[in-house]
Amino acid sequence: MSLHTGRHFLQIPGPTNVPDRVLRAMDMPTMDHRGPEFGALGLEVLTGIQRIFRTRQPVIIYPSSGTGAWEAAIVNTLQPGDKVLMAETGQFAVLWRGIAEKFKLDIDWIPGDWRRGADLDLIETRLAADRTHQIKAVCVVHNETSTGCVTHPLEVRKIMDRTKHPALLMVDSISGLGSLEYEHDAWGVDVTVAGSQKGLMLPPGLGFNAVSDKALAAAKANPGMRSYWDWMDVIAINKVGTWPYTPATNLLFGLKEAIAMLEEEGLENVWTRHRRHSAATRAAAKAWGLETQCADPHAHSPALTGVVMPDGHDADHFRKVVLENFDMSLGTGLNRIKGKVFRIGHIGHFNDLMLMGTLAGVEMGLDLAKVPHRTGGVMAAMEVLKGRDVVPMPKAAVA
Ligand code: PLP
Repeated sequence: MSLHTGRHFLQIPGPTNVPDRVLRAMDMPTMDHRGPEFGALGLEVLTGIQRIFRTRQPVIIYPSSGTGAWEAAIVNTLQPGDKVLMAETGQFAVLWRGIAEKFKLDIDWIPGDWRRGADLDLIETRLAADRTHQIKAVCVVHNETSTGCVTHPLEVRKIMDRTKHPALLMVDSISGLGSLEYEHDAWGVDVTVAGSQKGLMLPPGLGFNAVSDKALAAAKANPGMRSYWDWMDVIAINKVGTWPYTPATNLLFGLKEAIAMLEEEGLENVWTRHRRHSAATRAAAKAWGLETQCADPHAHSPALTGVVMPDGHDADHFRKVVLENFDMSLGTGLNRIKGKVFRIGHIGHFNDLMLMGTLAGVEMGLDLAKVPHRTGGVMAAMEVLKGRDVVPMPKAAVA
């Protein structure tokens, strides 16, 4: 292991860098999770997190990773044999499908090439054809972290309204929330799944389900088996700011601070900042002459950029060169794009100069790893940042 000075650059698309303020907030003695002090904290984070999801409905917070929150969304609302429409956007859509399979759901799978968001035309065709409303839920990944492609939940909602389909809309915004524009209530999302370790700037360990009235009604009527994940048990005791089991107390202190930071900056500014950094990163990739994994200009993720390696060059070898020389971690390609793609995370606690350092590390790494490219990516990114151009809101957001 080589010796490095200064700070490590953690530029994977989650877990993301945890701000010192959040680290300090978590540096607390453990406390009585049934005492009055904890109840006040519980109530504060439970209402604070509603503002981040933009919902007036309950948000269930689990001591879990995002995978647990995926499972919770399924077991609360669905039972074996229920039909669900799921769209292949990348590895995380594939993994969510894997959970649905284990719970013996009947999956209608819309295939995808991992280079764009969910195929909206096919979603519309399948919903329109389902006249007897066998499909109980439509599940999409908002920000597909394995590819850097976005599926706009509002566009899916509009299709569901157009086809008058009563299925639940379930959105995985694990790497979207706190980085990409998100409106749980206004977009008519029934279950939003999220995690702590991305835009919320916390360490891994909290999973979230934001729910709608309709999702709660589905859960109440659902006889399927569940215990730990049962929304109703958690919601009932959350009224006094506590949980039915031992919550992740110190992470909740961190969550309170992270919410404060997001609100001090203003959520709209957080979203704009992510879009700027994404635009600058794409300018760099273009100048290097490297393709982005996301091939749809309307679907580029504000949170991360997947970069395609030229044929004959291994992305993981390149990442190793960058790590060893510059102490910077870049995201690996997952599953079918392993070795072919590396991912630059520009998500969470991040600023212009951190982005410039990141892109400089990539450009120097391309050189050292002898990956064919043009120089000038860092300069191109700098031009975008200097211009302070207003990066337009994605189509769905302004519709
Ligand atoms: N969904 C998305 C979009 C993700 O990015 C991740 C993790 O990176 C997950 C789900 C799974 O979350 P976890 O690894 O916290 O279980």
